[in-house]
Amino acid sequence: MQVEALPSSVRSAVQSHRYGGRRIGLVPTMGALHVGHVSLMDAARRECDFVIVSIFVNPLQFGPNEDFECYPRTLERDLQKCENAGVDLVFTPATSQMYGSGAESIVSLTSLTRKLEGRHRPDHFDGVTTVVAKLFNITVPDKAYFGQKDYQQQLIIRRMVSDLDWGVEIVTCPIVREDDGLAMSSRNRHLSPADRASSQILFRALSLAQNLTQAGSESPDAIADRMQQLMAGVQGVEPDYAVVVDCDTLEPLVEQPERAVALIAARVGKTRLIDNQILRFR
Ligand code: AMP
Repeated sequence: MQVEALPSSVRSAVQSHRYGGRRIGLVPTMGALHVGHVSLMDAARRECDFVIVSIFVNPLQFGPNEDFECYPRTLERDLQKCENAGVDLVFTPATSQMYGSGAESIVSLTSLTRKLEGRHRPDHFDGVTTVVAKLFNITVPDKAYFGQKDYQQQLIIRRMVSDLDWGVEIVTCPIVREDDGLAMSSRNRHLSPADRASSQILFRALSLAQNLTQAGSESPDAIADRMQQLMAGVQGVEPDYAVVVDCDTLEPLVEQPERAVALIAARVGKTRLIDNQILRFR
């Protein structure tokens, strides 16, 4: 497995593997890799001939009071996991290699990025789209793999790729969960034992939403209310939002749809968690 820190080295490595219709797959990550990340690598390994994982804690997507400094960094273990997953190349740039002095270009969407997560984390998605655009330009992948765990993010990347005519196929992989339902996340390691117990409420709220949907009697808004009621008052849990919205636009639903998505964000202790579940009404 090749490990490269320079964009130019990645570019030439990829070029030498781009022959005879070989497919290049990219899995962008911020490291502190877990089984959820590995599921993306496995999908890329199944579908592509040359698999690249990027590991970069992107300062541009963290707000001033967010956890950039204490975001977990476990590079040696991450490289081992990539090797075990059969990854061909790991790109581990330093910040100075991604954003040289004087850099002033950003990629920014006008609407999807301003909703839900965007309301609570202003500028977050501009950081995401800018770094993903750079990763696409450096690696020129045929396919790029993202997790449904970050539902709004994968929607935004799809929009960006379509709007800017990028020839890359976006693959969204299912959420990988712990045994008790908690969605795997690099940030889960910051949960105290008490926080860890409280964090189960996110999955319980999403499961409630799914059960109510299947029962068929409640509207999307009523289901969102029930999720909010369930989460209210749980010790140490402060929800930012719990909504049921349109799968593509993230807008509130006017009529009973065929499909919708339930999205939750909550602070559990000092850690902010997000999770979601697709709901099928008919
Ligand atoms: P991150 O390192 O948090 O930026 O995540 C890198 C990629 O892994 C993103 O596309 C995430 O959506 C995806 N991912 C993170 N956690 C999970 C999970 N539990 N299941 C599936 N994909 C995940």
